[in-house]
Amino acid sequence: MTLAKEIRQIRQGSTMDTAILDVRQLVKHYGPVHAVKGVSFSIQPGICFGLLGPNGAGKTTTIEMIEGILPVSSGTILYKGAPRGESFTQEVGIQLQNTELPMFLTVKETLDTFRNLYTRRLSSQELVATCRLQEMLDQDNRKISGGQRQRLLLAMALSNDPDLIFLDEPTTGLDPQARRYLWEIVEDLKARGKTIVLTTHYMDEAQKLCDEIAIMDHGKIIAMGETRALLDTHCKGSSIVLPGPVPKQALERLGTPWFPLKDGRTTIQTEETDRSLKALMESGVDLSSVVVMPQTLEDLFLKLTGKALRN
Ligand code: ATP
Repeated sequence: MTLAKEIRQIRQGSTMDTAILDVRQLVKHYGPVHAVKGVSFSIQPGICFGLLGPNGAGKTTTIEMIEGILPVSSGTILYKGAPRGESFTQEVGIQLQNTELPMFLTVKETLDTFRNLYTRRLSSQELVATCRLQEMLDQDNRKISGGQRQRLLLAMALSNDPDLIFLDEPTTGLDPQARRYLWEIVEDLKARGKTIVLTTHYMDEAQKLCDEIAIMDHGKIIAMGETRALLDTHCKGSSIVLPGPVPKQALERLGTPWFPLKDGRTTIQTEETDRSLKALMESGVDLSSVVVMPQTLEDLFLKLTGKALRN
């Protein structure tokens, strides 16, 4: 058991593993499209669980079935050990991928409107402090930046002080600083014992925030577990990144996985860095701009799906 897990269990006063969310054999057909093909996972309270996968893998469909937005074709979803009912509606917070904000309202008016939908709710002050909204409260929704908009959407999702929070690609399109700002908020939520289900295209984000991840491709989970353990198992070596295309013959000689990236770079995954570099040099590959890095979640993702999430 990891230290983080032990601390969570001590905080919860229990050594029992009671899943906050238990998903069994979830299936979704959109007419002839078999979008989700029997997905199962359990999420323990207090962790950040990342659902990752390339475009069209079935992440949003899976999340929206769990949230109750989409009907399931088949499968079981249990919240705190029971079928989802009124407590689920009251105790979850959802930040959708695309949400239209009400026009002609200020940020403060929007927050108040949302808070009033719930009986259990966070105070305005807490919401404003948690999501760092103070300086934008009187601004019209149409005039806030992308990062401010994401923080407002998160605040709306937190209005009811949820135990379980779904964040569907909360940082897509944000600049690095705005992303980091949002990460800090997610870390705060985790520190308060909230459970978070996060989908993201950014592997650095998943590696930083997620205690556990599931990687989906073609509607199925192809790898799942504690982030650190997955990395330790699958990503022992390093990544050699070359700035341009590399002749196929030279790559095949290496006997290790390699991937041409969309931006023209080539990445080679190896457990024997020196031997691979020597082999490339012997094949006449220009190594003057080579970069050698420890393998990351991005490399695990490439290895498992053959696709880069973002290039
Ligand atoms: P992205 O990262 O691009 O958001 P995703 O992993 O969330 O992708 P989904 O949006 O769940 O993937 O889509 C899974 C599959 O289901 C895709 O093939 C998609 O085209 C298909 N799909 C999604 N919504 C519908 C729909 N309403 N009708 C028909 N097919 C759909």
